[in-house]
Amino acid sequence: MLAPTKVKVEPGKLFINGRTLDASGGATFDTINPATGEVLTQVASGEERDIDLAVTAAREAFDSGPWTRKMSAADRSRILWKIGDLLMARAEELGELETLDSGKPVTENVKIDLPLAADCFHYYAGWATKIHGETIPVRGPFLNYTLREPVGVCGQITPWNFPILMAAWKVAPALACGNTVVLKPASYTPLTALRLAALCQEAGLPDGVLNVVTGAGSTAGMALVRHPLVDKIAVTGSTPVGQQIMREAAGTLKKVSLELGGKSPNIILADADLDAAARGAHTGIFYNKGEICTAGSRLFVEEGAHDTLMEKLIDRARKTVPGDPLDPKCRFGPQVSEAQMNTILRYIGKGKEEGARLVTGGNRAKVGDGRGFFVEPTIFDAVNDDMTIAREEIFGPVLSVIPFKGIEEGIARANQTIYGLAAGVWTKDIKKAHRLARELRAGTVWINTYNNFDNASPFGGYKMSGFGRELGAAALDLYTQIKSVWVDLS
Ligand code: NAD
Repeated sequence: MLAPTKVKVEPGKLFINGRTLDASGGATFDTINPATGEVLTQVASGEERDIDLAVTAAREAFDSGPWTRKMSAADRSRILWKIGDLLMARAEELGELETLDSGKPVTENVKIDLPLAADCFHYYAGWATKIHGETIPVRGPFLNYTLREPVGVCGQITPWNFPILMAAWKVAPALACGNTVVLKPASYTPLTALRLAALCQEAGLPDGVLNVVTGAGSTAGMALVRHPLVDKIAVTGSTPVGQQIMREAAGTLKKVSLELGGKSPNIILADADLDAAARGAHTGIFYNKGEICTAGSRLFVEEGAHDTLMEKLIDRARKTVPGDPLDPKCRFGPQVSEAQMNTILRYIGKGKEEGARLVTGGNRAKVGDGRGFFVEPTIFDAVNDDMTIAREEIFGPVLSVIPFKGIEEGIARANQTIYGLAAGVWTKDIKKAHRLARELRAGTVWINTYNNFDNASPFGGYKMSGFGRELGAAALDLYTQIKSVWVDLS
């Protein structure tokens, strides 16, 4: 028996121009509770016509509504701050809803994701009044200055692993800069994005400024990418989807920013504090049941540290028992879907086939009546760089331990990947730590820590992990453009 819930799950409808609507074709899709395999509710399956309605609303709100030109930055800031307050006030309810839809442990949703999402709105509420141009000393009798203006209508496409948090990362900076938005959440986890839209309305966001269209990536998502009245597309998702979106966005030459997949190296040098490193390696891969883009899925362990570290790692993994994500004590829930669980189990099979040594886990886990999509925390040792599990993003709780000798070899092999999202380094040697920070080709490097995030610190990828930086002041560049104004003073 899994824990009962007090949250009322309502059918999901589109949110367009301040109103909730069925999809124009009347179609819906099921959203499933991954802990039980049961249908939670039906959600409107938006398609091209719905995207067109939403984009038209966002366009009108941008071109002639109060939000972009008539409202002061201070008033926009107040609305963003209020959205943050409402997210915090509803953290328990939204956290539970997120758990039902995604399988993420409720304690992590309520204590980490919702506070971070609320803080993201508070952080960008602060920026709304500080976005401005410059005066530039040019030659001749001219005054030259720049205006930093919003980009326009932003199409935003989010993944299922941190649904409300990824929506906040996108929506908050876009709104702070005065843009309007059409958000397309992942179809596995659409429910909290719809609740976010209702909260924004409650906070006073004018109609049409934030619209949410639920539906499949290949239809609703693609229609958003192709729509000629959308000025910018921001996506968080897998690398193949990012590539497809970039190709399609070329048709209308939209501005594009992409936060994509990863296969991040987490490097433990022999001189590291091995207790701390084992803790960091464990949360680096098993936090959010491995469904995290920054997962430290390639654990490089320097000769000399290997045996002690493996003992500690295996012990921690065995103590991490998959459980009911609605239980406040749960730290490891089900994978988001049956398909994702099967993909992970296939990768585990490949690891065995290709000769990696399975040291713990490796199976589907039975929780309750066994219908949920749970996978045991899994560790492979003696992995080499050519194995599939060392090259491809698994997006699940599967760690590949890769032994290496010496820092030069460690750097070279860590960088041997198409991805460049994040990396970790564990050492007591300050010179080695900073050298690795420079040489690792990744958008984030954590030293003696892993998976730290703050709304003030930029985040994004090198190489095929994407481009553009979200969070911090850097995100303002994604959602503004610069106009140069010349005035003849002669
Ligand atoms: P996905 O690529 O399958 O889907 C992401 C989003 O894109 C979803 O909303 C989906 O509906 C939409 N989509 C899919 N096909 C589309 C298309 N042809 N046109 C337009 N939209 C389309 O990714 P996912 O499975 O939801 O999420 C997991 C992936 O996201 C992993 O690769 C992970 O690494 C990545 N991710 C990256 C970050 C980051 O910040 N870099 C954060 C979280 C997740």
